Amino acid sequence: MRIGVLGAGQLGRMLALAGYPLAKDFVFYDMSGSPSAGLGETIVDLDGKYLDDFLSKVDRVTYEFEHLPVDVAEKLAKHKPVHPSPRALQVCQNRVAEKTLFGQLGIPTPEWKVADSADSLKAAAEELGCPVVAKSITEGYDGKGQAVLKSPDQADDAWDMIGHPQVIVEKFVNFSREVSIIAVRAEDGDVAFYPIAENTHYEGILRYSIAPAPGLQAHVQKDAERYIKALLNELNYVGVLTLELFETPEGLVANEMAPRVHNSGHWSIEGAMTSQFENHLRAVQGLPLGATNAIAPTCMVNVIGLEGDNAALLAIADTHLHRYDKAERPGRKLAHVNVVASSHAELLEKVRACQALIPDAPPVEWSFESTL
Ligand code: AMP
Repeated sequence: MRIGVLGAGQLGRMLALAGYPLAKDFVFYDMSGSPSAGLGETIVDLDGKYLDDFLSKVDRVTYEFEHLPVDVAEKLAKHKPVHPSPRALQVCQNRVAEKTLFGQLGIPTPEWKVADSADSLKAAAEELGCPVVAKSITEGYDGKGQAVLKSPDQADDAWDMIGHPQVIVEKFVNFSREVSIIAVRAEDGDVAFYPIAENTHYEGILRYSIAPAPGLQAHVQKDAERYIKALLNELNYVGVLTLELFETPEGLVANEMAPRVHNSGHWSIEGAMTSQFENHLRAVQGLPLGATNAIAPTCMVNVIGLEGDNAALLAIADTHLHRYDKAERPGRKLAHVNVVASSHAELLEKVRACQALIPDAPPVEWSFESTL
């Protein structure tokens, strides 16, 4: 079976790496002009001329990034199975559609309103009570197209800065930490959940994901599973879905979802019985899912902008380096290191050792450190 992947970045690369042991071939379809996946034929197509060519070469289609025109996915779905469904793409491309669906399914979200002018942004900030976060409704990711308003008087500046005709205005959540849950749904409706990961961001980019999230109460994992299962079933979803959440003393609050394998699931390559990449491919091909339990406490450390001292990183026991074959550039995801340990305390020590070897890695300040 030949798998067609829309997008050709590091997620596609890791899908292919997980797929080759299952004897799969990959064809990548790139609309960015700078593919980096390697490991398979890549069709670079900036204006949609070669879509039919791509279709003729593949049996099933999936994607590795969600900023892809929905009509492209819909066109492909008329000819070949496309997993996840184009509706999942459509929902997560629009923050209002996404938060509306969360609400319909009983998934808690921050209180929110829509604004379509600087004045209505100001009114929304007054009604919700500051601080609020204003975000462009479409085309936003990794904190881009966003502003935090500490007072309604900042509405004019925030509106100009975001520069988008519509924004969603959310009440600022005082979270204790950011977490995510990844789940996978098979063609026959079977669902498996990974343990929740704790995520640390720096300058808008994910830096560390630890799974299982330390000190997590069992009922929090169960709540997250209930929320993501509701989404998977509602969307008749096949493949891996990620739900990003805020943990608060009152419970989980959903931020957004990603209809694909996710950076906060890279720990699963060495840390789980079956990686998110393998499970996504199993689902896309209609195969049974693999077990999703964590084998040991694991941390994914992102390498951003500049490469680290790779030999020294690999000299730390139980570290695994995954490079993406990309040139160094500020803010660019170049690689990640998975660190496996026998306890969270040992993990913390090893990750601190990694941090010292990665130029752009921020200090390791984890919420659970005081509990070790
Ligand atoms: P997003 O692009 O929605 O993932 O937002 C990027 C980051 O902004 C998140 O990872 C949070 O750190 C922060 N953020 C987004 N929305 C909120 C919110 N309603 N309250 C507090 N922080 C937020």
